[in-house]
Amino acid sequence: MPSEDFVTQQRTAGRHAVVIGAGLAGMLAAWVLREHAGRVTVIERDRAPEGPKPRAGVPQGRHAHVLLPSGQRALDALLPGTVDRLLNDGARQVGMPEDMVQWQAGRWYLRTPASIHLLACTRPLIDWTVRERVRSDDRIHFTQSTEAAALLGDAGRVRGVRVRGRGAGDRATRDIEADLVIDASGRSSASPLWLNEIGARAPREESIDTGLAYASQVFRAPEGEPDPAFHCFYVLPNAAQPLTAVLLRVEEGRWIASLSGPRGLEPPTDAEGFVDYASRYPHPHLRDWLSKAVAESPVVGGRHNANVRRYYEERGRLPAGFLAMGDALCAFNPIYGQGMSVAALGAVALRAALSDRDSVPTTARTQRALAAVARQAWEIAAGADKEIPGVEFYGTARGATADAAAWYLRRLQQRVPGNPTLGAAYRDVLALNAPLTTLFAPRNAADVLFTRVPATPEHPPLTRDSLD
Ligand SMILES: Cc1cc2nc3c(=O)[nH]c(=O)nc-3n(C[C@H](O)[C@H](O)[C@H](O)COP(=O)(O)OP(=O)(O)OC[C@H]3O[C@@H](n4cnc5c(N)ncnc54)[C@H](O)[C@@H]3O)c2cc1C
Repeated sequence: MPSEDFVTQQRTAGRHAVVIGAGLAGMLAAWVLREHAGRVTVIERDRAPEGPKPRAGVPQGRHAHVLLPSGQRALDALLPGTVDRLLNDGARQVGMPEDMVQWQAGRWYLRTPASIHLLACTRPLIDWTVRERVRSDDRIHFTQSTEAAALLGDAGRVRGVRVRGRGAGDRATRDIEADLVIDASGRSSASPLWLNEIGARAPREESIDTGLAYASQVFRAPEGEPDPAFHCFYVLPNAAQPLTAVLLRVEEGRWIASLSGPRGLEPPTDAEGFVDYASRYPHPHLRDWLSKAVAESPVVGGRHNANVRRYYEERGRLPAGFLAMGDALCAFNPIYGQGMSVAALGAVALRAALSDRDSVPTTARTQRALAAVARQAWEIAAGADKEIPGVEFYGTARGATADAAAWYLRRLQQRVPGNPTLGAAYRDVLALNAPLTTLFAPRNAADVLFTRVPATPEHPPLTRDSLD
């Protein structure tokens, strides 16, 4: 019933919005909502640490994270100056391919001048920087050590959230009424179940799962060795070589090594096994570096990295007063580094939808805008995983990418490491700067279809010589 819909109301001091989850999506959603509701409550099951420290509710925060250029722009559009603040605190702009040693489809990339820059730092630094800024607004209230346990309302409208204390404190439940509830509780969101409980339909769900498992460890560069002349060592998977590796320089002279492999090839989580696993990559450099480097943390593992998409935007499914965003809406295999950027782009889309004076921003329309933001990242991550041996599909009849498209993309990936123009087009797509269709544009198609595979370095280009 549009007239009852939160987003169709005049902005009113009496409106109350609730956000479930104080991850990146939740914090940025709360920041946007403060312009549209007199009061915003963020419900978070963790207690936020003081300073840039990992926390239990965001276990992925111990693994390597980068922010794509589109995510950086979105973050700055919402919270101006945030990227500069991160850079002041030790984050780094990593030029692709200039500052990276990158392997894909059997080839090492030429380190030609950068066409895009990734923001590299620890995930806790990003979360803390955003959190401090959002907490400074007195329209936003935090209810910590408290978990959402159910939705209130009925099939037509969500009217609030039932919450329960966590930890040693009060475990009693209480109800919080709200005009709008946003689920930003991450990939393990229970909203489909909660919607069923109030008589609404759960969204259709699709999952493409390679069984990808991660293991990560923090290091300092080997004593006495020259500082590496790169900021990131990155091995991408394909059907023949399904392992991924990221060795990323972060703040305070530390490096995070994140190794991952699909079902049956999971990396071990003991220190010795972790370094041994690195021998499986296409060149011994990574293993050699890790075996000499100084470990600064234990190895931490992580599973549950499937691509999961919940189709809340499908017609007739969504009660008024409820939206889902971030990983709760669509979660990706992490190896393309897209999730935080999609969370930030989602918040920009939320702001645009709520402020749109030309069309009625119902919850259904707003949810469609949020889903649209996630689509390309889904096509990239889920599309690539369809090619990985052993992948499992749930809720989708679709198998591997159509033969012709897969053939074209394989030819493209063979040429990208040695062809800077094609490389720039490819990176723009991966960075969510340009639509996937640009890869099939005539100028790119000519290179893909009619040129030989260009020469690339035989060994990992550990120095920047190839820039000259
Ligand atoms: C190994 C790995 C590497 C990654 N690398 C990158 C990368 O390089 N770049 C990138 O952009 N993305 C990366 N990602 C993805 C990125 O971490 C996520 O996309 C991002 O964290 C999503 O943010 P979110 O706020 O939606 O969810 P989350 O960050 O998961 O936050 C969810 C929040 O909800 C809280 N919560 C959950 N349930 C409840 C409840 N019932 N009640 C109250 N609170 C609740 C949690 O405690 C948490 O604070 C990676 C992910 C993984 C697993």
